[in-house]
Amino acid sequence: METAESDSRTDADSSSAADAATTWSPPRCPRCDAPVRTVTALGPTDHYAHPCGCRVYAGFLE
Ligand SMILES: [Zn+2]
Repeated sequence: METAESDSRTDADSSSAADAATTWSPPRCPRCDAPVRTVTALGPTDHYAHPCGCRVYAGFLE
């Protein structure tokens, strides 16, 4: 009983971790469609996507 239970739990953990890794994708820049790694805020309304450098709306990555 104990062995079977721990086996099934290990199986579920590894498959859910693989799903998360394969389904995640970075957000896309609304202007040039490049993957956005981070956004720099230069002011309350000035936000720039990196690495492409396009200006994006505030809270784009949130
Ligand atoms: Zn861009």
